[in-house]
Amino acid sequence: MLSRIFTAILVSVVVTSSVILILPGSWLPFLSLDTLHRAPSLAQRGATVATTPLEIVPISLRTREYWMREAVTALHGLVSPCPFAAFGTVIVNHTSPDDLGDPICIGANAMSSTGNPTLHGEIAAINNCTAVLTDPKGIYKLSPAEVIAAWKDLTLYTTAEPCPMCATAIRWAGFRECVFGTSIETLIRMGWGQIDLPSSEIFERSDALGTKTRLLQDVLAKETDPYFAWQFDGAATCPVDCERDSGAGTCVPTADNEVDL
Ligand SMILES: [Zn+2]
Repeated sequence: MLSRIFTAILVSVVVTSSVILILPGSWLPFLSLDTLHRAPSLAQRGATVATTPLEIVPISLRTREYWMREAVTALHGLVSPCPFAAFGTVIVNHTSPDDLGDPICIGANAMSSTGNPTLHGEIAAINNCTAVLTDPKGIYKLSPAEVIAAWKDLTLYTTAEPCPMCATAIRWAGFRECVFGTSIETLIRMGWGQIDLPSSEIFERSDALGTKTRLLQDVLAKETDPYFAWQFDGAATCPVDCERDSGAGTCVPTADNEVDL
């Protein structure tokens, strides 16, 4: 579905994506939900492919890492360079004519800013993409039925392994792929409260849905792990562009990277 639509509007998409890729902050005008505003061969590099035997998508590790870094950048743009809950997501169309892929929307964990416990980064992004894809004034203008079909063309990149709630939502949507950095196992080891159920198990148990989602794990984890390491370890190094606050001991943006929301 999206491949046909993207072909029909190739010129506008290419122009838009060029701007977006250079200036990630320019995504914000596409994001209409209030929650947003308060809110990179894999095998050779330690990443593994789990679950269902989908046809191999010829996407380079460099491209995977690029989008994982964009999921991190989503945190910078929506929250801060070092939010406590550093769960950022970007949803990408890899079926477009652009080799790199086209970003559809971003999202970041918005629980603390909204009180909504379901607004993990992945859910926030799914909500945002739904709004972007159906926006009658946007570039896609899809009907609900077309959006439901469109998920099967999209890839979700997220800084940490989807929890059971998000993994289930991803499978209900029928995403083409799900790519994550830091694992649930690592989060728990670092001190995070997590439901100890790997997303691979959710994926393996969802064949009856009639869709397949390829799962790529540990992608660029060496870069995403530091975003989750400092919260429960006072000796851990802060993420890039952040430093320890001498009073509270938390990681805060350096003076040059404070975010005005
Ligand atoms: Zn989740």
